[in-house]
Amino acid sequence: MQIISTRQELTAFAQACQQQHKSIGLVPTMGALHEGHAALVKKSVADNEVTIVSVFVNPTQFNNKEDLAKYPRNQHADAELLASLGADVMFAPTPEEMYSAEEMKETFRFDFGGLDAVMEGKMRPGHFNGVVQVVSRLFYLAKPNRAYFGEKDFQQLAIIHFMVERSELAGTFGDLRIVDCPIVRDKSGLALSSRNARLSEDEKKTALHISKTLFASLEWAKTLSVKEVEDKVIETINAVEGLEIEYYAIVDQTTLQPTTTFNNAIGCVTVYCGQVRLIDNIKY
Ligand code: AMP
Repeated sequence: MQIISTRQELTAFAQACQQQHKSIGLVPTMGALHEGHAALVKKSVADNEVTIVSVFVNPTQFNNKEDLAKYPRNQHADAELLASLGADVMFAPTPEEMYSAEEMKETFRFDFGGLDAVMEGKMRPGHFNGVVQVVSRLFYLAKPNRAYFGEKDFQQLAIIHFMVERSELAGTFGDLRIVDCPIVRDKSGLALSSRNARLSEDEKKTALHISKTLFASLEWAKTLSVKEVEDKVIETINAVEGLEIEYYAIVDQTTLQPTTTFNNAIGCVTVYCGQVRLIDNIKY
């Protein structure tokens, strides 16, 4: 596996692949890789002749400096895992390599067609601008035929689909296909996340109540209304010592707008477990 840290080398690599008519799979990540990321990489390796994995903690998508500073980083272990999975390239640039000084402070402005007005977009102003800034740049550099994203970040996935299929950027990435990958959980049900590394053993046990409550809500949905299920999820999670809900919203999977039926609905939650902000979701 090659480790590439400059944009120029990545472009040259992707151009050489295109000349040889090799299909390229791209898996964008922020590193501190776990089995959730590994599932995306395995799918890309199975589907494409070449797999590029980016490992870049993108500063422009963090609206909280402390979260950025504390974000787990482990590039050595990431490189070992990616090589063992059969990835061809790990692209690990510095922020200065990715962005000019202007781009770093003046985050790119993008019209999300309203998809960012709710949930993560509402709670983390500028977050999705930063995500689209980095993902669109990665698409231009790596020229993928397919790009792999996890449903764990459901709103992010909806926004990436919008960017590629319906926004002013649609069509600029060739025939790129976005591949949605299901959430990977540990045996106890906790959604895998790089941020789980910041949880103590006790906090990990506390955090289990998040997925447990979401799974229980599938039963509640059989008899209760959307509003009642929302309230019960919030109440149940907030009753656990050490957990505090930031939001729980049952929305339409396509528009991400609030819904009153369970048809095509998804419940998205953000919870603080101690200092650590965790997200999860469940489809009804
Ligand atoms: P991150 O490094 O957290 O930015 O995640 C990189 C990619 O991996 C994103 O598309 C995430 O949605 C995906 N991902 C992270 N955790 C999981 C998980 N537990 N299951 C599936 N995909 C995941």
